[in-house]
Amino acid sequence: MLAVGLVPTLLVSAIAYATISSELTHKTVDQLTSTASSQQQKINSLLQKRQEEATKLANQFDLQSALGAYLNHKASVSDIYTILLNKKVSTPDIQTIDLIGLDGTIITSTVTTNENKKAKTDDYFVPTGQESNIRVKEDARDGIDKLYITTKVSVNKNEAGYLNLIFRIDDIVAAIQDYTGLGTTGETVVAAKNNNNDISLFPLRFNTDAALKTNLNSLLLYVSTEAGYQQATDYRGHAVLVASRSVGFADWVIATKIDADEALAPIIILRNSLLAILAVMSMAIVAFSLYFTRFFTTPILRIAEISKSYGLGDFSRQVDLRRDDEIGQLGDSINTMGHNLHDYVANIESQRNRLQVILNSSADSIFAINKSGDIILANATTSTLMQLPINHIVGKPVNNIFTWHSDIDQITIDYNKPGTNIYTDLQCTDVAGATHYVKLIVAKLSGEQDAEAPQTIITIHDETKSRELENMKVDFVSMAAHELRTPLAATRGYLELISYKQGVRIAPDVKNYINQALKSTAELGGLIDNLLGVTRIERGTLTLQPHKVDLAANIQQAISNARFSATDKRLSLTYNGPTSHCYVIADQISLNEVINNLINNAIKYTNPGGSVEVTLTHRDQEYVIQFRDTGIGIPKSAVPNLFTKFYRVHGGLNSGSTGTGLGLFISKSIIERHGGTIKVESEEGRGSTFTITIPVFNEQRFAALHAQGEPSATNARGDRGWTTQNIAR
Ligand code: ADP
Repeated sequence: MLAVGLVPTLLVSAIAYATISSELTHKTVDQLTSTASSQQQKINSLLQKRQEEATKLANQFDLQSALGAYLNHKASVSDIYTILLNKKVSTPDIQTIDLIGLDGTIITSTVTTNENKKAKTDDYFVPTGQESNIRVKEDARDGIDKLYITTKVSVNKNEAGYLNLIFRIDDIVAAIQDYTGLGTTGETVVAAKNNNNDISLFPLRFNTDAALKTNLNSLLLYVSTEAGYQQATDYRGHAVLVASRSVGFADWVIATKIDADEALAPIIILRNSLLAILAVMSMAIVAFSLYFTRFFTTPILRIAEISKSYGLGDFSRQVDLRRDDEIGQLGDSINTMGHNLHDYVANIESQRNRLQVILNSSADSIFAINKSGDIILANATTSTLMQLPINHIVGKPVNNIFTWHSDIDQITIDYNKPGTNIYTDLQCTDVAGATHYVKLIVAKLSGEQDAEAPQTIITIHDETKSRELENMKVDFVSMAAHELRTPLAATRGYLELISYKQGVRIAPDVKNYINQALKSTAELGGLIDNLLGVTRIERGTLTLQPHKVDLAANIQQAISNARFSATDKRLSLTYNGPTSHCYVIADQISLNEVINNLINNAIKYTNPGGSVEVTLTHRDQEYVIQFRDTGIGIPKSAVPNLFTKFYRVHGGLNSGSTGTGLGLFISKSIIERHGGTIKVESEEGRGSTFTITIPVFNEQRFAALHAQGEPSATNARGDRGWTTQNIAR
């Protein structure tokens, strides 16, 4: 937070400081150097002007003629003196004008006391080849350095003397020193350099020459550059900026300086301001960070910590912020969430316990496996089923605990197959070696991504006991049916004997009783046959003999057999189809049993005046037989159970309808064993249509069946057709 606030502030300040200070420095230096340059120009032009004035005076005709006259002794020096004096008066800067003869004698001077005195050689020195010389030198008369402009004076084009214009340097320098425009410490000094690079002027604001020299030297005048400036320390020990310029005529140097403190004052003010702003900003940022931390970060961290503890299941802690703002509301929401989570978790706990109780009270074994196939939970029945403690089951791979068999083959169950898959007739063996006959329901949960979450729920319904009971029941029914058969056959035989014995006159009512008894024995015989059929089917001992059977002929035969009952019930019974050559592979007795059953049912469940029609058609590789009646029909809800054992729609003691509910069950078994199908369409009160399909006779299949020989009860289950199967389960 601090860094986020401070770094940009520092950056902006640094950039602002660099930009503005460089701008200000440039401006100050420009000002300094341009002042120096303008002072340089000023003094240059002043000196040039003075030199021109000197030249002009030297070339002045009246001066030259007065000098000529004087040298020829034709006139006194007074004319010259007047001319010089006039010049001095008209040019107040000039302190003294001397006219010196070629031999060095002062011809005349505005300082009259000098006349006829001998001047020193360097008082009137002009380098060879030059007309005039400008320099600074000491005036022997008063010992003060002055500006000397010496110009040769000619008379009639012959050198006749030297004219000295002597200026007080103060006056010269004062002309440029009036104003630098550089503030209070801005100052321009002018110095003359001799060959030793020694400063020799000017006592401007300084007391003595010696002080001046030292002080000017401190300004580094000798390292002056025309364009630039230097930083130096002046005689006061102050840091100064100095711009120096040469003044050609006089071999002078002009230096403009300003105290660095003053020159750089805006920059320093800027720097100090920026530092102050920075300090204030930093303090503000620190204060803001502290505020932010105190008012935002700390409570948010607290909320995060409490949320984490909720995530770990500790709901005892509460966020205690006592604030009315959004963070306070967030804290309250977290508290509410914690409270609700606590309730949810408690609720889930109790539901889990309940579920555990329910699971454990289930008679079925129920367990769940995770993605890697490990059992992650199992109920008590699983432990009972496998004869293993629950902790020997949970955590183990499912394939280590359960191996599935169907008869003798091992079966691999795909536990990841989507949806719910039911596997019947499976066997598994517990640790004690006992085999359990089971039904397996494998339900894959969809959408479970977590590898440790239950992925598949497996329910094992142990059918071992019910199968044993079923077998006992089948055994009993089979035994009872067999036991009933012999006395029934005897009863029937005797009744027929009585009925048909010749020569015995039987009273008509007795005859009627005997016929009733015969009918009942026939019905009872049918029932016993059905029961035996069922037991054979259930035990898998129903054997079928494959023959080439003419379906058309058999149907017609069945119709003619049922004709009497139909007529008796005032029903029309018709056949619609080919009369012969509709061959199928079938066990003739069983097939006829099915046809008879369906015709008899149609007659039985159709009221007098109705009709029953049997049709035979050929479709693709199968024959389709339809038994259509206009009878009482079957409710839709009953259709799914119609082909199960002992199921009767119109049964019941008071219905007056006799039957066992076995006919359709047996028919379905037989038809499926023939590789066919049976189904029903019905509308209550309007009639029913039972449809059977049977594959058309096929020579190769017929040969194969014969080659296969007698089907045996131990053949593998599951094949449709001629092998034995137990379709009851
Ligand atoms: P059963 O006729 O001996 O009762 P089935 O197995 O042959 O036994 O028939 C089962 C039940 O199906 C019958 O009890 C009857 O309610 C119903 N059913 C069979 N065929 C018909 C049909 N053609 N019309 C109406 N109901 C029928």
